[in-house]
Amino acid sequence: MPHPSAFAAELSWPDYHVAVRDGTTPILIPLGSMEQHGHHMPLHVDVLLPTEFARRAALRIGGLVAPAFTYGYKSQQKCGGGNHLPGTTSLEGSTLVSALRDVLKEFAHHGNRQFVIVNGHYENSWFITEAVDLALRELRWDGIADVKVVVLSYWDFVDEATIKQLYPDGFPGWAVEHGGVLETSLMLALYPQLVRLDRAIDHPPATFPPYDVYPVKPEWTPPSGTLSSPKEASREKGEIMLKVCTDGIVEALISEFGLKRQALPAAA
Ligand code: ZN
Ligand code: MN
Repeated sequence: MPHPSAFAAELSWPDYHVAVRDGTTPILIPLGSMEQHGHHMPLHVDVLLPTEFARRAALRIGGLVAPAFTYGYKSQQKCGGGNHLPGTTSLEGSTLVSALRDVLKEFAHHGNRQFVIVNGHYENSWFITEAVDLALRELRWDGIADVKVVVLSYWDFVDEATIKQLYPDGFPGWAVEHGGVLETSLMLALYPQLVRLDRAIDHPPATFPPYDVYPVKPEWTPPSGTLSSPKEASREKGEIMLKVCTDGIVEALISEFGLKRQALPAAA
């Protein structure tokens, strides 16, 4: 039976309790960051995008979307421009690990057994792994040993054929996609009112030496804050990526959790 909302926090506690107590409703937790995304996009791109992927997937598998993590691990220069840029507001790694571990354990104590971490900020990756590992270990101490967690980043579902279609002039790589064609196209498809393409700055993909330096050298980051140009972004490219990534995520979750497909609501 469909839930009254795809968002867990929009349910009353009795509705939530009925949905989760037997552990058969997957809980999708979006993880993002507050991070500059160039002159043309808002600071919450890494929250808005995984939340929407989670919502679309939840509607198709009968899951519930937990409140997103709206801060993430420190922006790194080679994949997010760097933590020194205005607006970028980050957590220490240990804070993120503790917070995600706490939330996973709380949900598990409510009865949830199937979790999906939907990551939208590359820098979170290893801290997610650590939080999941600690949560599973500590839940076993509580006698809860049947929790399964799928960890994914939505861009990993863009396949080679789609990359060729979307980047006819050559793919710069996901690391320098920060504020580039991928994120900007998705935002144009989902939140066009938040994108100012006329303010986008065109520049070649950022290049870095094969090592890191701390404190960062601000001059390594393009002055725009983006790591590649968003000029070739379009709503149409965003629609293609939305479909490819949502379909891929849904197939993965059906397979991992042995789920049945849900009838699609008309306006999904
Ligand atoms: Zn981003
Ligand atoms: Mn990011």
